[in-house]
Amino acid sequence: MGRTKGGTRNGEGHVYKHCRLCGRPFRRFKSKLAPPSYGSFCTRACFWAAWHLFNLALETERLEPIFKELAAILKEEEKKKAAADMKKAA
Ligand SMILES: [Zn+2]
Repeated sequence: MGRTKGGTRNGEGHVYKHCRLCGRPFRRFKSKLAPPSYGSFCTRACFWAAWHLFNLALETERLEPIFKELAAILKEEEKKKAAADMKKAA
């Protein structure tokens, strides 16, 4: 429980998004196979450019506070998962 239901708006096969990097709007097939992160960029070029920026940010330790936050969130999720598994097993 506690899982948010993904908003499925009228079963269209496409979603419109704005590229996280260049802001260009683009259309993407709704696909459960594609990793969601990849779906945030209009092209591969933007995806890799963003990846490069991410690595730069890592080097400058700017992401440290974000990582700490994420680590806390992951821990919470794991706790929830473990609790759910216990319920299943019982
Ligand atoms: Zn882009």
